[in-house]
Amino acid sequence: MCGIVGAVSGRNIVPVLVQGLQRLEYRGYDSCGVAVHAAGLQRARTTSRVADLLAQVQSERIEGFTGIAHTRWATHGAPAVHNAHPHFSHGPGADAGTARPGRIALVHNGIIENHESLRAALQAKGYAFASQTDTEVIAHLIDSHYDGDLFEAVKASVRELHGAFAIAAICRDEPHRVVGAREGSPLILGVGKGEGENFLASDAMALAGVTDQIVYLEEGDIVDIQPGKYWIVDRAHKTATRPVRTVQAHSGAAELGPYRHYMQKEIFEQPRAIADTLEGVEGIVPELFDGIGADGAPGAAAWRVFKEIDKVLILACGTSYYSGCTAKYWLEAIAKIPTQVEIASEYRYRESVPDPRTLVVTIS
Ligand code: GLU
Repeated sequence: MCGIVGAVSGRNIVPVLVQGLQRLEYRGYDSCGVAVHAAGLQRARTTSRVADLLAQVQSERIEGFTGIAHTRWATHGAPAVHNAHPHFSHGPGADAGTARPGRIALVHNGIIENHESLRAALQAKGYAFASQTDTEVIAHLIDSHYDGDLFEAVKASVRELHGAFAIAAICRDEPHRVVGAREGSPLILGVGKGEGENFLASDAMALAGVTDQIVYLEEGDIVDIQPGKYWIVDRAHKTATRPVRTVQAHSGAAELGPYRHYMQKEIFEQPRAIADTLEGVEGIVPELFDGIGADGAPGAAAWRVFKEIDKVLILACGTSYYSGCTAKYWLEAIAKIPTQVEIASEYRYRESVPDPRTLVVTIS
């Protein structure tokens, strides 16, 4: 799951969108792209770095007041330009093989589990597919529901999606509007400071320096941003009021500094990260794990949990998986509790045997 940035503004917003992607680069990505409303929809996509995307938008003079941008971490379809986001809808009759802009442009983080059945239904209606992604079905689905109102089309579409997603979409026929939705993947709204600007992003970090006024959208929320106003509805399509928080996104965390790449930066930051985590901690004592119990014993909750379990199952991916492997050494050597560590993305898709006497620890 990678990065999303979207914006409505009264100025050319492409530099802000691309800068937002730069702030999300630390998460890793295999391709990136941007689409804007500029007398129709225009886009640039690349399997190269965000810096190259910037050069591309400059040389192709891609500019616009309304746009969406994405860094992709491929789950469906190879890391290739034709699979990179934003995806355009190719309505019935359109030739998917050409670069002819469609009506909807869309970026997506996450996985659509029922993409195959949706693709078959859309193909039967005459929609042509230009990528192998699960994402492209959402663009076509929104197009198929579109009747002059992007917000309504997104509301109708997300009802049909199963899986995890954060999306942001723009429409050729509505130049000053970005509509987003989230279910299982994060999406935030940034309330702009000037020019009536408003933003969407998968992470407040993307908007550091642009706005510190952040609304954290909740699961099932659908959001409509327009110049000077925004609108949120919940899963039941009832108007939702979410608090605006002032968030000081620590932009230094997203900057590469003197390091060659983000993995090197994270490795060198480990001593600092551990020191920050342990600040104020005077030793690994039971009190750390939930205060004093009714019986006056420290660490009561941890003690109760450990009495009720026979095993620990740690679920994590990537570097977190390796951390889990280290935890396994400690849990087995010190606490003598059998511990298993599994790659979460594999566990997610297999039929496991749930055991009430296993403590499941997930790391994200
Ligand atoms: N599943 C989508 C794809 O493969 C989105 C991946 C992402 O979250 O970056 O294109």
